[in-house]
Amino acid sequence: MEENATIIRCMHCGANGPAARYPVLNVDTQPELKARVLSNELFLMKCPKCEKLTPYAYDCTYVDAKANLVIVLRPGLKNSQFVERLNQLQQVFGSGGGRLHRVVSSPNELRELVLIHSAGLDDRAVFMCKMLMAGSLQQARVPITALYFASADLERQVLSFEFHLPNGQRMAKAMELKAYENCLEVVNQDHSLVRDAYLKLDLSWALQYMNQTAGLARELAAKRAAENNAKNESASSEQQE
Ligand SMILES: [Zn+2]
Repeated sequence: MEENATIIRCMHCGANGPAARYPVLNVDTQPELKARVLSNELFLMKCPKCEKLTPYAYDCTYVDAKANLVIVLRPGLKNSQFVERLNQLQQVFGSGGGRLHRVVSSPNELRELVLIHSAGLDDRAVFMCKMLMAGSLQQARVPITALYFASADLERQVLSFEFHLPNGQRMAKAMELKAYENCLEVVNQDHSLVRDAYLKLDLSWALQYMNQTAGLARELAAKRAAENNAKNESASSEQQE
């Protein structure tokens, strides 16, 4: 869709500058928009006077028909408003058809979801891993101000997360792909969660979901352990022969 320009104030020098807004980000007809979401460029105003960047956000809808993905960005929407908003979206876009509908409340969250789907990962399992990562950082008493999925390296079998420290520093921490596969198994075996349901994925969603599926996760872990034991036993009996 055509961009609308508005004027915003530079946060560094106070000068006014033009800021484009894209109500619809259709990456099928305009594939270059995806790269601009990933670089955050669509949500940064470069000041015409001091050339520094000022972040801004606006309501928009990211549509990737090939990937069957719709992400609605509603900046600043509070968690308590999501249920109502999700119902409204369901009425506007309809549901089902295998299309994924997600809601995010900041350009960084939009970027994160696009990265997850570009890596071919299941976003629900990634958010469960993100919860595990948040827990391990908290245990190590790392004071984080933000945490995002960064990348997946299938050769090295790791997922990588980026976290921000109070002084603005950005750091990365990796997690074994095995953890993701275990979470994915829970998601795939749990029939209470419809894949194309409207979802606002975040740490509170992940915490609630992991509590809800804790029994299933334990069952699956016990099954994996039994299978490993059986494998080890047959390996050691082969050695003895
Ligand atoms: Zn400026």
